[in-house]
Amino acid sequence: RADAAPRLAARGLVHRFGETTALAGVDVDLVDGGSLAVMGPSGSGKSTLLHVLAGILVPTAGVVALGGREVQSLSEKERSLLRRRRYGFVFQFGQLLSELSALENVALPAMLTGSSRAQAEEAARQWLGALGLAGTESRRPGELSGGQAQRVAVARALVTRPEVVFADEPTGSLDQATGHDVMRLLVESTRAVGAALVVVTHDAQVAAWCDARIDMLDGRVVAAGAVPGSGVGPRPGELEAIRATAV
Ligand code: ADP
Ligand code: MG
Repeated sequence: RADAAPRLAARGLVHRFGETTALAGVDVDLVDGGSLAVMGPSGSGKSTLLHVLAGILVPTAGVVALGGREVQSLSEKERSLLRRRRYGFVFQFGQLLSELSALENVALPAMLTGSSRAQAEEAARQWLGALGLAGTESRRPGELSGGQAQRVAVARALVTRPEVVFADEPTGSLDQATGHDVMRLLVESTRAVGAALVVVTHDAQVAAWCDARIDMLDGRVVAAGAVPGSGVGPRPGELEAIRATAV
């Protein structure tokens, strides 16, 4: 797969907030089914990079191409549609709608991209089951543990079959064991739908779940490479459930 054209390719990304240069010339390639960890200290530009790659922010300079087509120059409306239809997002916390059940939270993006309520809820039920959340369908986010809520967020990010999944500190609010569970499921599920994954984290153990990693400092990539032996070990039965849902 190393010679496959990247799903998302960025070249020469620069982003300035007033006087602050958050990105000072960054290149990134994301391949289908591959996962990239973005590491670096606070303020090094990780979140800005994720936001520019995802079309949330427009770069000051540089190119972002999705499937070979430049997207940085699209209108806000076009970028919003792109994000909704072709990308999935997982953030640190507070991303689920508190008045909706787990099932409704997961079904919503599918309904917003054209599925009927029945289709969306069936897909949501399958994803919740695949991520070990059967039985939580009717619970509101406030009635879930932190790890369960993040798994619901993973299901919600995947239910639309995105081409790229963007995660910013997805384990940041979790204890280590729970964080590893969430990362394992995030990496496996993203791979199972054939999407590319980019995970911003300041935790090297979280990064170790990804195939590749870049390290940022002051808006630049200061190291890049494969993560050795990043064998993500799904638990028995888990991968089968995810694969069945992803077919
Ligand atoms: P990280 O995610 O690695 O902590 P960020 O990408 O959030 O880093 O920030 C990179 C730099 O850009 C920092 O100097 C930060 O203060 C600055 N920055 C980030 N967002 C904004 C913003 N909305 N307005 C002004 N400066 C910002
Ligand atoms: Mg950040």
